[in-house]
Amino acid sequence: MNEGLLFVLSAPSGCGKTTLLRQVMERLSGLSFSVSHTTRQPRTGEVNGRDYHFVSLEEFKAVRDCQPSGFLEWAEVHGNCYGTSRQEVDSRLAAGMDVILDIDVQGAEQVRRNAQPVTIFIAPPSLTELERRLRGRGTESEESLRRRLANAAKEMESAPAYTYLIINDRLEQAALELSSIIIAERCRKRRTA
Ligand code: ADP
Ligand code: 5GP
Repeated sequence: MNEGLLFVLSAPSGCGKTTLLRQVMERLSGLSFSVSHTTRQPRTGEVNGRDYHFVSLEEFKAVRDCQPSGFLEWAEVHGNCYGTSRQEVDSRLAAGMDVILDIDVQGAEQVRRNAQPVTIFIAPPSLTELERRLRGRGTESEESLRRRLANAAKEMESAPAYTYLIINDRLEQAALELSSIIIAERCRKRRTA
């Protein structure tokens, strides 16, 4: 059986990555979302084990410091720790599933060093629109919101390192583009030969 493909998605917070991913996962089968570990507090509506594995800093460090590390990659983002379970990703890829990681630009850089992921950067149409979406979501304190917006401009500088770029302006068009990338990658000759 062929190993699955590894997709890495990064975007500034509030850009619409989660919304976009939900749409695409409803349309395409055989895609598995890797649920990250995080030390951040759950938002209203977030479910442990579905959106994230919500853990304490001690629990996070215990996974991180195993030998070899229990994380394929990890990073501190907006003041909290986030990491991708190595075991979760490896077992799904080995079973032939395509796996999607929703990780920040630091994590993407680590994955690039150790694997050959398909990397996709999702950008907002503008920073003004990004702020409007982040405020509209209503999940962040003013301090968290400011921090996320300040990081956004920096994260955008990493966009050229990604294979694909999607501007999430109209959701329907962006979802079509993301689905098309995944389908095209699945059809590459070396994968079907
Ligand atoms: P992220 O996962 O990147 O932090 P979300 O998916 O939570 O972002 O989206 C942030 C907010 O923006 C949500 O309220 C969502 O409904 C809205 N949103 C997402 N995509 C679009 C879009 N293309 N146009 C307008 N609003 C959007
Ligand atoms: P949020 O707190 O808004 O859910 O996520 C904040 C940022 O952390 C986003 O850029 C998201 O992609 C990133 N992130 C989520 N999970 C992981 C992970 O496992 N590793 C890394 N490096 N970043 C992650």
